[in-house]
This record gives sequence, C-alpha cells and structure tokens, in this order.
Amino acid sequence: MIPAKQILLGLALVVGGALIVNVPGWTVYGIPVSSGQGMLLIFAGVIWIGYVLLNRKKILIQEETVKEAKREAKRFVICPRCGETKYAKDVPGLKCPKCETALEELEGFYDRHPNLKLEEND
Ligand SMILES: [Zn+2]
Repeated sequence: MIPAKQILLGLALVVGGALIVNVPGWTVYGIPVSSGQGMLLIFAGVIWIGYVLLNRKKILIQEETVKEAKREAKRFVICPRCGETKYAKDVPGLKCPKCETALEELEGFYDRHPNLKLEEND
C-alpha cells in the first residue's frame, strides 16, 4: 500500500512544473512564471514523492488513525431497555442516561434483538 493521494499531489507538482517549463509565456494570476520556477516545482514534487515513499508506513498509519477517529465520532449506541440512541462519544461509561442500562452498538442491534424490532413496528 502507498499513500495514493500524497503521491498524486507530488505528481501534480511535477506535471505543473513541466507545463511551466515547456509552455512559453505561462502566467499565474497574470504574473509571468519562468522555466526556472517550473524546474523548482518539479524538484519540489520529486522531493515530496521521495519523502512520501520513505515515510509511507507512518503516513498510512496516521491516515488510518484519522479515519478511525471519524468512525468513532459517528458511532451510535442504543439502550436495549428504553430505545434511547446516543453518540457513543457523548455517553461516558456507555450507560443509558435515562435508565442506567448498558448501551449496545446500534449497528446490527435489531439483528441481535429481532423481538425489539417487532415491538417497534406494532
Ligand atoms: Zn435506557
């Protein structure tokens, strides 16, 4: 596995630099850009890609940690007794604030408790 987004960013720098080098009279917001600046961009892109490849494990672990934190922030729990649903992050100890029952994961809850599903539909 490689951090594809970061590699693409480096490639974009290289391609942008190559465009500046090869297209005469290139301007950014009306300011002319020299081919030397294009070369600098290519250089930065190559350094960036090298950095990303050398640190790919660390970068992937960081990305996974961020994803995990986002998942955790959206995780729902439900009270099997009174049906109260909450974000897990908002309930310390995962006890129902209404009836003190231990909360369960909402995901798959009605598969584990099909009887509760029927009661709700009645
Ligand atoms: Zn409850």
